[in-house]
Amino acid sequence: MKILICNDDGYQAPGVVALYEALKDVADVEVVAPEQNNSAKSNALTLHTPLYVQRAANGFRYVNGTPADCVHIALTGLIDYRPDLVVSGINNGANMGDDTIYSGTVGAAMEGYLFGIPSIAFSQVERNWHHLDVAANKAREMVLQMSQQNLIGQTPWLLNVNIPNLPLLEMGHLKLCRLGRRHSAEAVITQQNPRGETMYWIGAAGQAKDDAEGTDFHATAQGHISMTPLQVDLTDHNHLGYWAQTAAKLAAVVGVD
Ligand code: MN
Repeated sequence: MKILICNDDGYQAPGVVALYEALKDVADVEVVAPEQNNSAKSNALTLHTPLYVQRAANGFRYVNGTPADCVHIALTGLIDYRPDLVVSGINNGANMGDDTIYSGTVGAAMEGYLFGIPSIAFSQVERNWHHLDVAANKAREMVLQMSQQNLIGQTPWLLNVNIPNLPLLEMGHLKLCRLGRRHSAEAVITQQNPRGETMYWIGAAGQAKDDAEGTDFHATAQGHISMTPLQVDLTDHNHLGYWAQTAAKLAAVVGVD
């Protein structure tokens, strides 16, 4: 089995090093990761500046681009094989609910999925790397079990996994979850720079709004590992009927078919 590893915290982040160490005896693994922290870069691609690939002393390759850039160039010419699995993380902090839209960790995995490869995004719930060894071991167990049970095949899927920062003995089970939702983000933070100009800092993500049983927020709060299968089709399938009626009402104006 061949695994391509990426992350969004940068190639020097403890999470990607731990993931590499955990998976390197499970499969042939290669790391292609961003040079800098690229959290919240989603699926962004760099189109207007050139990308450079360098190799670090530990063998990791790093790119002056986004997580999606890394996976994209890896799969379109940088590496000369097709990986069986793309694994992203382990992220420094939760990627639950709406986070998945913004997350560079999920974005890297999604890029693998868009290229037709089964892909997993791993995140630790808290931003302190506590019990990272446990999280890496859980990621290893998951990938190993999937490999041994032939669950990694030609059909692509995209999994989002959040692991609580807990010691092994307190870690709960793997729970299949839907995404929860967050409240709106906190207010933008303004400061004055030394030249008296106003700087704006994006505020913190909102607290959980929908953390009902069955959500990733709920499972991880109970000490469990959340696993959510994601899809990329953004069509609002549930409301296509409503929009068909609305489109009919617009037909006279804009000639809707
Ligand atoms: Mn991150």
